[in-house]
Amino acid sequence: MVDVAIVGSGPNGLAAAVVMARAGLSVQVFEAADTIGGGARTLELTEPGYRHDWGSAVQAMAFASPFFQHFGITERVEFIVPEISYGQPLDGGRAGIAWRDIERTAEGLGRDGAAWLRLLKPLVEDARRVTEFTMSPMLPLPRHPFTALRYGLRALEQGSFLANARFSGDLAPALLAGAFAHSIGRIPSLGTASAGLLLATLAHDGGWPIPVGGSQAMTDAMVSDLQAHGGTVETGHRIFSVDELPQARAVFFDTSAGQLLDIAGGRLAPGYRRALGRFRYGNAASKVDFALSGPVPWANEDLRAAGTIHVGGTRAEVAAGEAAVAGGRYPELPYVLASQPTVFDPSRAPAGGHTLWTYTHVPAGSDRDMTEPVTAQIERFAPGFRDVIVASSALPATAIERGNPNFVGGDIAGGAADFLQLIVRPVLSSKPWRSAPGLYLCSASAVPGPGVHGLGGYQAARLALREVFGLPLPSLAP
Ligand SMILES: Cc1cc2nc3c(=O)[nH]c(=O)nc-3n(C[C@H](O)[C@H](O)[C@H](O)COP(=O)(O)OP(=O)(O)OC[C@H]3O[C@@H](n4cnc5c(N)ncnc54)[C@H](O)[C@@H]3O)c2cc1C
Repeated sequence: MVDVAIVGSGPNGLAAAVVMARAGLSVQVFEAADTIGGGARTLELTEPGYRHDWGSAVQAMAFASPFFQHFGITERVEFIVPEISYGQPLDGGRAGIAWRDIERTAEGLGRDGAAWLRLLKPLVEDARRVTEFTMSPMLPLPRHPFTALRYGLRALEQGSFLANARFSGDLAPALLAGAFAHSIGRIPSLGTASAGLLLATLAHDGGWPIPVGGSQAMTDAMVSDLQAHGGTVETGHRIFSVDELPQARAVFFDTSAGQLLDIAGGRLAPGYRRALGRFRYGNAASKVDFALSGPVPWANEDLRAAGTIHVGGTRAEVAAGEAAVAGGRYPELPYVLASQPTVFDPSRAPAGGHTLWTYTHVPAGSDRDMTEPVTAQIERFAPGFRDVIVASSALPATAIERGNPNFVGGDIAGGAADFLQLIVRPVLSSKPWRSAPGLYLCSASAVPGPGVHGLGGYQAARLALREVFGLPLPSLAP
């Protein structure tokens, strides 16, 4: 018998575990995989000594997340914050560069610089409220209506046929398309624009940090805090039924919405079961990690110092690639998300070596190895790239699901992240984490959705502390 049982040790499961253990409760976490961390793990995927992020690599939400702020993540984990948050190469050695410094970004965008500032600067100056608005349930109505209106109007514009209206060149639209495509969906669309505008805002606020040592460092920080407060994690133990769990006053599911239905359907109300049955999964990621003998020889010099590179060409090319995936096809020119951590953190490769983390979008359930299309697309903007490849490792969408059952069909968002399902996730409620008395869904299948922010776990834990245990939120400080 324990106070709290948690199914899944991803960032949300661990966030819930830390909060409950800090409140003095006994906590037991069950993890299907042999390693802890779900989407936040770092493993030797290619060659000995090359440490690759299995899932998440760039922690854009790490500084903005109220959970990680209370947990003092920056005191526990060392982060690199690249001066260039992200860049987008175009042919001929040109590139859009999103510096952390928004004014410097605007200078590089020529005649579109002023339009970039008008679009994003008001959001950057209001970043704390923008984060609160976008990472909270839609109900009750937003606490800061003016922030919501300002953000909403921009998302409507950037998610519609008006997306290009304020720009006359190709760099700024390409940069935005690269940030919006993270959500795996059509461009323009309200879903990709509303999630992408937050990423674009954070790029000019706290930046897009990369943990030294990889995303595993964030997982390790949470696990060691949990253990210091008496909690345990049992790996290699997949839960198929709620009856397998020890008796617990509160159970948290850091699982997909569909798995919650399978594991605990009998304990859920019929309306909630129907909502879980309607939950949709989106298209997928297919991953390729590279071990390199040197840095990526990007034709554009600035890109050599960028944390993240969106490799996909112009806005029209990125949109065409995403439209192909949305239509169930493989793009001719794939959109590739790339991060080059060893440019800043040499500890992740043998001396002189580098790692490159990439993934591209593919139809759900794809088992295609995307190494060649990804390599060709990078070579287009970094001639000589093939010559520095020492080894590579492909994780097709089906392998991603095998490595973590939350990523159904390779959907790394834990459920389609379109506009409707970002709001109704998995239900439209001011407490979308409550599944039944004492049962909570805390994964990316619940508000606020994908990303390493721990907020699903944090909010579910706060709710459970209040309604099951009558306890206040404890201090999470180191
Ligand atoms: C390739 C890839 C790239 C990504 N890139 C980024 C990025 O750069 N930045 C970013 O912020 N996010 C990124 N993400 C998304 C991010 O990793 C996820 O949104 C995040 O990990 C979700 O956290 P979670 O706690 O909800 O679930 P997960 O991290 O998915 O963890 C769930 C855990 O529960 C376990 N589990 C599931 N079912 C059971 C069961 N029945 N019994 C026991 N254990 C179970 C799983 O094995 C897993 O360990 C990426 C994901 C992938 C795969």
